[in-house]
Amino acid sequence: MKYVQTVCGPISPEEMGFTLPHEHIFWDLKVYLPKDLDENDPDDPRNRKICLENLSQIRAKFQHYTHNITQQDIEVAVRELEWFREAGGRTICDCTVRGIHPDAAKAKEASRRSGVHVVLGTGYYCHNSLTDKENKLDRFQKAEHILHDLQEGFEGTDVKAGFIKVGVESIHADADRESLAAAAIAQKQTGAAILIHQPGIEHQSQEIFEVLTANGGDLSRTVMCHCDPLLPDHDYIDAMAKAGAYISFDFFGLDGVLGKTLFLPTDKDRIFSVLEQIERGNLDKLLFSHDTVYKTMLRQFGGYGYAHLQRDVWPLMLANGYTQDVLNHISIENPARVFTMEA
Ligand SMILES: [Zn+2]
Repeated sequence: MKYVQTVCGPISPEEMGFTLPHEHIFWDLKVYLPKDLDENDPDDPRNRKICLENLSQIRAKFQHYTHNITQQDIEVAVRELEWFREAGGRTICDCTVRGIHPDAAKAKEASRRSGVHVVLGTGYYCHNSLTDKENKLDRFQKAEHILHDLQEGFEGTDVKAGFIKVGVESIHADADRESLAAAAIAQKQTGAAILIHQPGIEHQSQEIFEVLTANGGDLSRTVMCHCDPLLPDHDYIDAMAKAGAYISFDFFGLDGVLGKTLFLPTDKDRIFSVLEQIERGNLDKLLFSHDTVYKTMLRQFGGYGYAHLQRDVWPLMLANGYTQDVLNHISIENPARVFTMEA
């Protein structure tokens, strides 16, 4: 039997409908706050709540503002998910894993109340987000935890993970390599897809693929996330697709600078650039999403929200070289193939 494992139980792949393959519903990135910031200092402007007066500053430095990099409010989440459903959205895959604080019980409640299918990932985010204890685990210990979440459910809940997500800040970091190897080991036993946070604009796909295949992983069930900042390096992106992996452009609506060196393209760059990957025969490998992980990306805090692709981007694509068939292929058929498991 083919199925997709959502937080409320299995559904058929056809039920997924329009899907965002890489988002976050609840998250906590406080581990990335600047070291000189005291969270309890009310006089530090970085501790103020998001408002129109500081919105531009937050957009210039996403990760410096405590309120911006955490979202744990169920009411906020349900409202955003309802807007997504009203725009025709059906499924959101939540990539929040160990390191950035997933909450399986809350994800289930948000799904139940909004009527949006939610598929939750399991795995280990980049080593610099993990505890020393987590970073000391080897690939077999990490694989055991991932398998538990996929097969038994997240600790203390009846919610099962529906895919694996791994953060690779650098393939040369031992802990990241062990997380990647663990993902491959767990994939071999379950057939679950692996989504990989790529190391910025570093070209490490070759080494990443080597670790995956050496540990029993399947490149055709692997998604290389965050291809956006690699544009317009079409040869490198094409090579990942030709090796069998999915290529995910998942920063739609986000055009800032991450850190000081990672310049994200604009939606215009993405819209025109991705056509080149379709011409190279990679339509079956394309995925689109927003990677919503800052509050300012939500409608309630001045952002586009989860419906940006359908509401704002699709009309531009349809006027500039894409057909509805192509868009359905990328946002319905491809995700359904990625997240389907077999019992
Ligand atoms: Zn993400």
